[in-house]
Amino acid sequence: MDIANAFLHYQNEVSSYGATLVAVSKTKPNPDLLEAYEAGCRVFGENKVQEMTAKYEELPKDIQWHLIGHLQTNKVKYIAPFVHLIHAVDSFKLLEEINKQGAKAGRVINCLLQVYIAQEETKFGLDQAELLELLENKEVQGFQNVKLCGLMGMATNTDNEAQIANEFEGLKQLFEEVKIAYPLPNSDWKELSMGMSGDYKIALEHGSTMVRIGSSIFGHRSYSV
Ligand SMILES: *Cc1c(COP(=O)(O)O)cnc(C)c1O
Repeated sequence: MDIANAFLHYQNEVSSYGATLVAVSKTKPNPDLLEAYEAGCRVFGENKVQEMTAKYEELPKDIQWHLIGHLQTNKVKYIAPFVHLIHAVDSFKLLEEINKQGAKAGRVINCLLQVYIAQEETKFGLDQAELLELLENKEVQGFQNVKLCGLMGMATNTDNEAQIANEFEGLKQLFEEVKIAYPLPNSDWKELSMGMSGDYKIALEHGSTMVRIGSSIFGHRSYSV
C-alpha cells in the first residue's frame, strides 16, 4: 500500500473509534510526509527536536506537530514556539522548563504525562506514585503556560496480547482516576495516547483517544530509533 492509501485506511479505522491518528514520520523525508498531507493528514509525530523543527520550517503551516519521544530539558526552547502537543513529559524539571519556555513564547503548551506501564527496563515514564506526586505539587498546579491534557503510555513489546491489553487497561483506569481527582486549573483531561503500529487495535479497544502509527503508514524505518 502506498503512503496515501495507508494513511486513509488508518485514518478511517481510528476515527471510527472517535480517536485521533498521529502519523509518526520520524526518519522519513519531507516528500513522504507531503504524500500523507495531500491525502488529508494534518497531525504528524516526531521524536527528535532537530528533525521536527526542520520539518516544521519546510512543510505547510497547518500541520500539528506532536513531539512523541523523550524530550531533553535543554531542547524545549526550540519547539516551544510551535509544538502542538508534547506526549512524553516525565519529570517535574521538564514540565517546569516547558512552562518557562511557553511563557517566553506567549503560549500555553499542551502536554501529556508519560506513565510507565511496560515490563521493560528501557522505557521512560513516571510510575503511579510519581505521577500522583507531580499532580499534588503546588508549583505544578500553578503553571500557567502548560495544559495537562492527558496521559501517554507504551505497552511492552511482546506478542502476548493479554499482557498488552492488561497494561493499556491499567493506564485507562489510572486516567479515569486522575480525571476525577485532579480537576486542576491548568488541566483539560481528554487525551489518552496509547497504541502504535503493532498494538493500536488493542489500545483503541481499551479507551485510547490517540494512536501513534508510524511504520504501518510510512513503511519500515531504515534505522531504529
Ligand atoms: C516510533 C514511535 C511510534 C510509532 O511506532 P511504529 O511501530 O512505527 O508505529 C509510536 N510512539 C513512539 C513514542 C515512537 O517513538
